[in-house]
Amino acid sequence: METPNFLPRDVALPYGLSSDGRLVSVDAVVRGLKCECVCPGCKRPLVARKGEIIRAHFAHQANAACATGFESMVHLLAKDVIEKRRGVLIPEVRVHAGETRKHVAPAKVLRLTNIRLEQWITGLRPDIVANYEGHDLIIEIAVTHKAEPVKITELRRRGSPAVEIDLSALHKQDITEDVIWDAIISSAPRYWLFNRLADRPKRKSSKRKPRGSKRFAFAHSLLPMNARP
Ligand SMILES: [Zn+2]
Repeated sequence: METPNFLPRDVALPYGLSSDGRLVSVDAVVRGLKCECVCPGCKRPLVARKGEIIRAHFAHQANAACATGFESMVHLLAKDVIEKRRGVLIPEVRVHAGETRKHVAPAKVLRLTNIRLEQWITGLRPDIVANYEGHDLIIEIAVTHKAEPVKITELRRRGSPAVEIDLSALHKQDITEDVIWDAIISSAPRYWLFNRLADRPKRKSSKRKPRGSKRFAFAHSLLPMNARP
């Protein structure tokens, strides 16, 4: 048999970029080079392989190794899915104070509005900025690269609540929109890059007491102190 049973992930892609720059499923295009799609990573032409033996997929026309195609595809698909389905699960907030670990706010699914992709805000270009109850939440999607320390420092400086969702385990399964959505809304590991509440114990030098009530409505845990109502 000429067709290998195993195709490296960087070659076999379930989604490609169409000529208008949108991510499209191989199921939605015509066979072969006529699909007019390119690789989401290296931007070289893709061929839509839709045979009967193995699952339909895009392959690079030149059959060249591509280190970035799969990662870029997952990244773009995650952003598309969050934009389309408008939700995310945020992790619980815990505060570590010496030996004790205080549970501040539970994990929660948020309904998001005003979702913006890769939009510059001063000094940062987050994957996603979305609105939750009037305040911005930054969402980063990690596939092979987690947020750099310099980005986390900037988030802390700005006081911007930011969650990173780790999709690095998805290379082990077939990628569909539903698989990505399940990861975003429940199954993928996730953590706060910055959350004002979780950050508080690290500021031991500050003698200032936090303003406002000791009882936080959940939304407050997302807000920088100066943005609280
Ligand atoms: Zn490629």
